[in-house]
Amino acid sequence: MSHASPLTVPDPERAVLVIGAAPRGTFEDGLGRTLAESGTALRYLQAATDIEALQAASVGDEAPPSAVVLAPDLDNPLALARRAHQHSPLTQIVILARPERFEELRKATTMAPMIGDHWSLVDPADERLPELVRVAVQGTLQRMHLRATLDRMNARMLEPVAFDSEAHRSLVVSNQYLASIVEHAQDAILAVDHDDTIATWNQGASHMFAYERQAALGQPVGILVSDAHEGTFIELVQAARSGQAVRNREFACRRSDGTAFHAEFTLAPVRDEADRSTTVAVTARDITQRKRHEAELVALHRTLEQRVQDLHRANASLLAALDELAAKERELVALNATLEVQATTDALTGLKNRMVFHNSLEEMIAVAERQRAPLAVLVVDVDHFKRVNDTLGHQQGDRVLQTIARTLMAHTREQDVVARYGGEEFVALLPNTGLEDASLVAENLRRACGGLGTGEPPLTVSIGVASFVLGDSAASLLGRADEALYASKAHGRNRVTAASGIDADRPER
Ligand code: GH3
Ligand code: MG
Ligand code: MG
Repeated sequence: MSHASPLTVPDPERAVLVIGAAPRGTFEDGLGRTLAESGTALRYLQAATDIEALQAASVGDEAPPSAVVLAPDLDNPLALARRAHQHSPLTQIVILARPERFEELRKATTMAPMIGDHWSLVDPADERLPELVRVAVQGTLQRMHLRATLDRMNARMLEPVAFDSEAHRSLVVSNQYLASIVEHAQDAILAVDHDDTIATWNQGASHMFAYERQAALGQPVGILVSDAHEGTFIELVQAARSGQAVRNREFACRRSDGTAFHAEFTLAPVRDEADRSTTVAVTARDITQRKRHEAELVALHRTLEQRVQDLHRANASLLAALDELAAKERELVALNATLEVQATTDALTGLKNRMVFHNSLEEMIAVAERQRAPLAVLVVDVDHFKRVNDTLGHQQGDRVLQTIARTLMAHTREQDVVARYGGEEFVALLPNTGLEDASLVAENLRRACGGLGTGEPPLTVSIGVASFVLGDSAASLLGRADEALYASKAHGRNRVTAASGIDADRPER
């Protein structure tokens, strides 16, 4: 390789080599203007179709460029990147490409890693482009500088032991190796002297604390941490010096520009030949990002916990509301049942009321009509009930009505409907019962009622019986039963009259 021997550090003004497909004029009017803002000198080459010819023409025998910028109009920027890297491995390569090509290009470089590590993909529309080109130039120069320093050190160290053992040479190489690792580490690595001042300072430290090396060297190490933490920090430095292990201690830090961040420190004593430690090696790692993520996680966790609690609370009140609703529903069902009983029952006697009687009469007539089944109606009226009231009082009269109701129930079947029609008048509907059987039931009833009470005034009832004939309506059937009752009254009361005569008059349909 052309720079196996010590390199000359290139002039910082050395031109940045830009390679593109467009003619020079087009470049100068477009991309060239943007790149010129980087303040670096530019050299443009129009890529020939033949890459070999391009290599001969451009990156020939000259000293390496401070950066190579590959324009976005190139068909195969990676082939040119490979050429540039082969020729000048320390030069930073900037590949300009639209972001949608990034993945494809990255994949290609991973599969054929021929362009080294010093390259970056940049969107030509990125407004930081000039700044990024400047940074690329800095990267190249720093690498070249380090390389030159290492080569110089190498030469110096090899001098006195030029003909010495292989062991010395490998010691020198490993020292260089360590120095290079320290210099390029991402962590800040520094040494603190016996008087707590900064003795060494790597690039990572410059980057993290924003002090140039020269500005940092000789400063009290306390400047790196916040005022509040300075005392504790110095105590730790002294503890490390006296041999205590200090690992991963967090401190609030400050940069030269006053901005704050958090870093984690590890301190270790460096022992000299006499096994005394005066110097302390300090490494610091920026944990701002990690702390922010931790804080975000904690906040997220809190929010989630809060949400879960809210949900539990909402759930509990929902369950309570559901319980209340269920209780209300039970009350409502009970209330409905009560209301239904009230709406269908006669309060005094507990028999069905007039409304239920009428509904049942309609239904039973429909069944009788459909099934050609017999159906009978009884109308029962207490004789001279006024006298009962007058003699025994109204309350006693009520009790008599209740007793008659019980008697009616006792002399009828479950499928019969017995109701109080009003006042001292009762009705009974006897399904599947013909006129004759109904008259027998009525006769039994009349007798049973006659035995009720004290006998003074005598208690008797009159009953009218009618049976269904085809074509009857509720009114016509009930009307015949009423007429029969009227006949009982007219013939001296305390008797049963069947409306057979009236039935006979009615032609069947
Ligand atoms: P008859 O039917 O034999 O012709 O004579 P009656 O005296 O029973 O006739 P009416 O229908 O004129 O009188 C019925 C009486 O029944 C009138 C009323 O004071 C009484 N009565 C009606 N409802 C009740 C009631 O709920 N309780 C009591 N104690 N008496 C009632
Ligand atoms: Mg009466
Ligand atoms: Mg009456």
